[in-house]
Amino acid sequence: MAASKTLQALDKPVMTRAPYWADIPDEKWLDWRWQMSNRLNSFEELDAVINLTKSEKKALQSEGLFRVDITPYFASLIDPVDPGCPVRRQVIPTDREMVPFQSMMEDSLSEDKHSPVPGLVHRYPDRVLMLVTTQCASYCRYCTRSRIVGDPSQTFSREEFDAQINYIENTPQIRDVLLSGGDPMVLAPKLLQMILARLRTIPHVEIIRIGTRVPVFLPMRVTDEFCEMISQYHPFWLNIHVNHPKEITPELAAACDRLSRAGVPLGNQSVLLAGINDSVHIQRKLVHELVKIRVRPYYLYQCDLVEGSGHMRTTVARGIEIIEGLQGHTSGFAVPTYIIDAPGGGGKIPVSPNYVLAQAPGKVVLRNFEGFITTYQEPLDYDPGEIVNQENLIERRTEPGQEGILGLLGGDRMTIEPDGFAETHARGGKDHRLRSGEISDKWRPLGIGTIEHDKEEPKKLADPSLEDEQSSES
Ligand code: SF4
Repeated sequence: MAASKTLQALDKPVMTRAPYWADIPDEKWLDWRWQMSNRLNSFEELDAVINLTKSEKKALQSEGLFRVDITPYFASLIDPVDPGCPVRRQVIPTDREMVPFQSMMEDSLSEDKHSPVPGLVHRYPDRVLMLVTTQCASYCRYCTRSRIVGDPSQTFSREEFDAQINYIENTPQIRDVLLSGGDPMVLAPKLLQMILARLRTIPHVEIIRIGTRVPVFLPMRVTDEFCEMISQYHPFWLNIHVNHPKEITPELAAACDRLSRAGVPLGNQSVLLAGINDSVHIQRKLVHELVKIRVRPYYLYQCDLVEGSGHMRTTVARGIEIIEGLQGHTSGFAVPTYIIDAPGGGGKIPVSPNYVLAQAPGKVVLRNFEGFITTYQEPLDYDPGEIVNQENLIERRTEPGQEGILGLLGGDRMTIEPDGFAETHARGGKDHRLRSGEISDKWRPLGIGTIEHDKEEPKKLADPSLEDEQSSES
């Protein structure tokens, strides 16, 4: 079978390099430590490589600017004369970054609120986000953690790593640990290995993941040594972060190839960014290029309500339109899930076009990507109880307080109420002969409520067979 052009290119020493660094010897250019210590960050350095606009110059000379650092490799992908270059706009600030916008927040996902110990976010039932550093190889202008990222004084101490790991050790419901930051791949190699090794000794931690932009900003960091190290900690997954097809270079392809050969499943998370990738055609090209290098498009995020990102945000309608342009139009595994990470800490909410047009008992009316409308006839004798015996053979993972809509469907409860709902509807009145106490059989739905929040035993549903027996006895 003929190898693809991208994979053929991996055999050749390719060098994405701007003329500014033409004299740098290859050994240096390919050394990730050299790339890290020669990042562009000052106005003068950037001005020497890129034809900066007035707006970029103004931003770069502003007080309180979110950190700027760009690896020479990634800077080489920037079009020095095009201010609209999609790579450039991700890492070079403009003065629009300073403009506040309605609903913007410092910590828009309330991560710090959901952290039992510093840097460990426990938002979902069975998994945690472990922030291990505040440093990155380059800094994205829309970074959701700009409140701490880039600031070395906010980074995590050994004691804080210990507290994070102790929490994971003592919380058996955690089966999945995602390392992020900042970027875990810029950590000192020994420190990263120490964290991975400690996590691997925890019996209930089933998978370890890393979310990283290093393969995109600094593909030379993905050395054979690194791949060998992480392959000791399988099952180990890795998500990269590519926003535009221009970022998919032979160097990135080679880095992903090394990771894949080390047995690491790769996914990609993109952020939907105005003027950068908010186009069906660009997104289609992006997902096609990703699957060619064996990276599965995983999430497409709506840009968060974070300080500095106002001018990069799109409407949600645009995101839905993009998914409409992917689903059915290309391979299913190339279609990412479009996500709004809920402001206030509600977590990831998938959003998609609506394919179900109508429902009635026994029938669902659906439409496909072409507008073809069809009817799916549902079985009229389906018995959802048939699986129960098999289901009982599987250990059930309970998530007290996080049952959500599944809890309603499963009959654990009948309603989910906003905080203070009962008080609001009591209207300040006292208990009286028709309304006494919060828990009263009067409001207890028969057969609902088997979980802890219902303190009293629910009434048992009458067994019709017993009723028959009783009535025949009497
Ligand atoms: S790599 Fe990630 S953590 Fe670092 S600046 Fe970009 S978005 Fe933020």
